Amino acid sequence: MNILVTGGAGYIGSHTVKQLIDAGHRVVVLDNFYSGHRWAIDPAATLVEGDIADSDSVSQVLQTHNIDSVVHFAGYIVVPESVSDPFKYYENNVVGSLRLINACEQNDVQRFVFSSSAAVYGLPDSKKVDENARLNPINPYGNSKLITEMTLNDVANAYQHKDTPFKFVALRYFNAAGAQIAGNLGQATPEATHLIKVACEAATGKREQMKLFGTDYDTPDGSCVRDYIHVEDLAAAHLKALDYLADGGDSIRLNCGYGQGYSVKEVVAMVKKVSGVDFTAIETGRRAGDPPSLIADNTQIKRLLGWKPQYDDLELICRTAFNWEQTWQARQ
Ligand code: UDP
Repeated sequence: MNILVTGGAGYIGSHTVKQLIDAGHRVVVLDNFYSGHRWAIDPAATLVEGDIADSDSVSQVLQTHNIDSVVHFAGYIVVPESVSDPFKYYENNVVGSLRLINACEQNDVQRFVFSSSAAVYGLPDSKKVDENARLNPINPYGNSKLITEMTLNDVANAYQHKDTPFKFVALRYFNAAGAQIAGNLGQATPEATHLIKVACEAATGKREQMKLFGTDYDTPDGSCVRDYIHVEDLAAAHLKALDYLADGGDSIRLNCGYGQGYSVKEVVAMVKKVSGVDFTAIETGRRAGDPPSLIADNTQIKRLLGWKPQYDDLELICRTAFNWEQTWQARQ
């Protein structure tokens, strides 16, 4: 396939680009380098520096490279920031995605894989959440993902009778974490906010201490529970999603997680174990916008895409994240 990857210089995007190249696809990366890195892009990919909201440039890229498939990662991802600055999230994640989708439809892109999020569920009623659960995001980040899913669904319905219908898979990510097994890629966000990255920075001494947000939730140990998924397994799901659509699969939204939850306290303990460093984690109040627990029911993605997780192991996730943190800091 000829695949455009938006945000291909970012954390999950760069891992996916590498896997797409290794699988023999032709890949064009579109990135505005808001948070991505040039070194993270596989040299076999073609780089176009630009923004998803620039419809004319996007159309030109789609035509020049004869793009038939798009994997859309580009977007802002920090939940608390979305609460304090909703305009930023609606502008980029919603309006930017709308313009991109419009350009794709106009240029006869047939397959679109979207980075959605478990944040579309808000506060799930059940321990494991499946795709039919109520969609009720509790923060602007989750809203921005849900609105984009709805846009994709409406566009796919409206153009289903075209010769080359527009079809999509929205992957609802649970918590992406860890780093490439080969050790060359990992999360390199300068102002990291995600738990495992922050804990690894505390373990290396990059930060003096970390905060553990909220210990009074209605969960087994009082801290929030999340379903952490290794970035290589998450990247692999995108390749499976493209194959599914190429084989004639219908548009669909799928959870992408392991179906296993760990508390913030358990994760912090694991990062201490793999690093051998007893860093300080200060227990403090709740962080705005955090649901107590989010765990995937992953029955559908396994059944429909044949996705088989290979790195379902919190220790491996934390170890690859910690090793990468050391590599990345030594490079700077
Ligand atoms: N968290 C924490 N300290 C940090 C960062 C995160 O206690 O420095 C908690 C956060 O409050 C949430 C969980 O870790 O309960 C996962 O947060 P993260 O930002 O990694 O992902 P999210 O689930 O918000 O997408």
